[in-house]
Amino acid sequence: MESKSNVLMQRYELGRLLGQGTFGKVYYARSAITNQSVAIKMIDKDKVMKTGQTEQIKREISVMRLARHPNVIQLFEVMASKSKIYFVMEYAKGGELFNKVAKGKLKEEVAHKYFKQLINAVDYCHGRGVYHRDIKPENILLDENGNLKVSDFGLSALAESKRQDGLLHTPCGTPAYVAPEVIKRKGYDGAKADIWSSGIVLFVLLAGYLPFHDPNLIEMYRKISKAELKYPSWFPPEVCELLSKMLDPNPDTRISIANIREYGWFKKGPNTKSKRPEVENNTDSSSSTSHSDQNDETDGVAPDAKDESVVPTSINAFDIISLSAGFDLSRFFDESFQKREARFSSRLPASVIISKLEDIAKQLRMKIKKKAAGLLKLEGFDEGRKGVLSIDAEIFEVTPLFHLVEVKKSNGDTLEYQKILKEDIRPALQDIVWVWQSDQQLQSQQSEQQLQVDDQQQQQPGITPPQF
Ligand code: ATP
Ligand code: MG
Repeated sequence: MESKSNVLMQRYELGRLLGQGTFGKVYYARSAITNQSVAIKMIDKDKVMKTGQTEQIKREISVMRLARHPNVIQLFEVMASKSKIYFVMEYAKGGELFNKVAKGKLKEEVAHKYFKQLINAVDYCHGRGVYHRDIKPENILLDENGNLKVSDFGLSALAESKRQDGLLHTPCGTPAYVAPEVIKRKGYDGAKADIWSSGIVLFVLLAGYLPFHDPNLIEMYRKISKAELKYPSWFPPEVCELLSKMLDPNPDTRISIANIREYGWFKKGPNTKSKRPEVENNTDSSSSTSHSDQNDETDGVAPDAKDESVVPTSINAFDIISLSAGFDLSRFFDESFQKREARFSSRLPASVIISKLEDIAKQLRMKIKKKAAGLLKLEGFDEGRKGVLSIDAEIFEVTPLFHLVEVKKSNGDTLEYQKILKEDIRPALQDIVWVWQSDQQLQSQQSEQQLQVDDQQQQQPGITPPQF
């Protein structure tokens, strides 16, 4: 494990690495003056400059410097050197809240306590004009008393830049918590996006798994956009109603914080006999008569939650590239699906992929109808059998040099589309494609057969194309 042992700005003794995010590292530290424990987030200045939102960041940080709320990680000070910015913050000793959920769903009163604290934190910051935009497990921490602390409030410009990186949206991080309008890259209201993510958090706390989960990233995006929810049997009806309003795919009709507060469940919590709402320990099974507890057993991990066994996961570039076996390929073996969509990976920059697609459109005498963030729409001029042929190419950035591209027909005749895809588009893309998904499935099927033939043989190390 990485550690540094030096003194920062003659003020803080740096300790162990607490974690790493997209923009830098977070270290444990101790004030040389007061001996107080702190966490220091170190960010490269150029990374912040690149976002082009330094003014917004400065504004938000100055607001957060004055913010004091029991459920918001306090920002003690901001320091800077030539190349780095240091955020000195309150240290959350209890680590990430979701480490608890990783063991299974929480008891209803415990989930209620955390949810209430989360909404209080979010409401407080919204009241000061600061939106989080990146509420996710890594940013929901616990202090030594088991109280929830939201971190990274005031850094929404950074969260934003991760997504709006030029033309692309990046699936690095956790798309599972991101509101549909954010995924669709429309202009969006930060307050409503935070309410969506808080709804996902509540669902995960009570269920022990994500509401819109799919091992395939693109499929996960689809599920989120549709917001089709299935509530576990142990969810109280009032919670289902609240969640359906928080996870409303339309931000305009999505519930406000003021209205969340109106819910009896929010105000009072679960219908419990015993008055021990602060109990945070999973082993307590005596305190509640609520539906959620009927199944609770040792460790507070209900057997039904175990059966679901989908622990919330965050997907990042590393997962996609090196743990790609985790990506479920089964549905792509379905022929009807393959006929509609084609996917490939590329190790070239997005700009190269885009200009290649533009060239292809020209060659095919199709016009580029829409060029939104990450999405190119190729449209024919002639009416075919079933109207004008329209093809969408959507680019997902995994890392700046690794992209997933999905090509699919959005209008027109399927046979015409398949013919063009096979005879024109695929060959024309040849020099930018690293691997086509279908080819790679073939390869993995073959290699599986090979492994069956000789399962003693060690796999050769080296770069293999990722699965997706
Ligand atoms: P992103 O790059 O999207 O911001 P992130 O939130 O995981 O992702 P960081 O905010 O840099 O990245 O935090 C990295 C890790 O450090 C977190 O996952 C968290 O576990 C830990 N951490 C951050 N702030 C604190 C804190 N104040 N106290 C204790 N641990 C912290
Ligand atoms: Mg963070």
